[in-house]
Amino acid sequence: MDYDIVIVGGGPGGLTAGLYAARGDMKTLLLEKLLPGGQAATTFWIDNYPGFVEGVSGPQLMMSMKDQATRFGLEIKTDEAVDLEVLDDGFAVVGGEGRYTAHAVIIAAGATVAQLGVPGEEKLRGKGVSYCATCDGAFFRGEELVVIGGGDAAVEEGMFLTKFAKKVTIVHRRDRLRAAKAIQEKAFENEKIEFIWDSVVEEILGDQAVEGVRLKNLKTGETRELPCKGIFIYVGNIPNSQFLKGKVDMDGRGYILTNDEMQTSLKGIFACGDVRKKVLRQVVTACGEGATAAFAAQQFVEEKKGIAYK
Ligand code: NAP
Repeated sequence: MDYDIVIVGGGPGGLTAGLYAARGDMKTLLLEKLLPGGQAATTFWIDNYPGFVEGVSGPQLMMSMKDQATRFGLEIKTDEAVDLEVLDDGFAVVGGEGRYTAHAVIIAAGATVAQLGVPGEEKLRGKGVSYCATCDGAFFRGEELVVIGGGDAAVEEGMFLTKFAKKVTIVHRRDRLRAAKAIQEKAFENEKIEFIWDSVVEEILGDQAVEGVRLKNLKTGETRELPCKGIFIYVGNIPNSQFLKGKVDMDGRGYILTNDEMQTSLKGIFACGDVRKKVLRQVVTACGEGATAAFAAQQFVEEKKGIAYK
């Protein structure tokens, strides 16, 4: 085996698993398809990660988690896992760049932002259609923006966009937000934010760049066009578990099922963070699960090697 443990995904769950496994003297590799940090690294400000009185920047927190884990010897490679092979004596994670064998695998592959699936979205992606306010917000100084969704991400990122935009309109398909109460209250107080309720996007308008959105009110059936230069879409996430289909048990939406020790239905394969079926998707819960997954994976590896102590 090349490694004791291979971790797939470098968000807060994967990096914490990496910290615990490497610090526990496990030879550990973490595969990350882009840059370490996951979705949290594209979050401008994180207000609810304990220990930071005023909150902390997402990229900064994730960079610190990466540096802390590598200090203990965690190896990080840029590669995307595309398959998992079950071997006689372990597993092989197959990536686009290589094949990595290990006694145990921790899946911390996170989730990807969902698309709306409306006309104009694909054509105008990067030309005013965005899924990342931290990445693209600064391009829209003084402009009018639209945010779609009513969850934590839509409302928090909508607030962040008011740093640049003249006005941000949050369009939600119901008449009540899904976002946490504390987040809602801040948004309702923000003078640059307006809400349009009970409405969905029918089409994103524009030829070379976004010029507006056509909205439909679900209660009245009325449609209207709302001019804007940018549209930020936050309508939920899709778990990055496709490469494990048929190998571990998942729910109908592709979230991986585990027990309390983050053990999946396949012994030796653990999962943590947003890719897991659970009730609370936060950096702090991903970290807790990452620590648990690494602890359980280490026990599994040591028992397998016959070096476990009770
Ligand atoms: P989410 O909680 O699943 O919310 C998705 C929102 O999009 C919902 O309001 C949903 O409406 C709406 N929606 C879904 N499909 C739609 C469609 N086709 N058209 C229009 N609207 C649609 O997703 P999220 O906000 O990305 O958050 C994902 C997870 O990360 C959550 O667990 C969240 O708590 C967590 N998160 C936490 C923080 C934080 O604590 N600071 C920040 C970001 C994310 P309905 O409400 O009608 O279903």
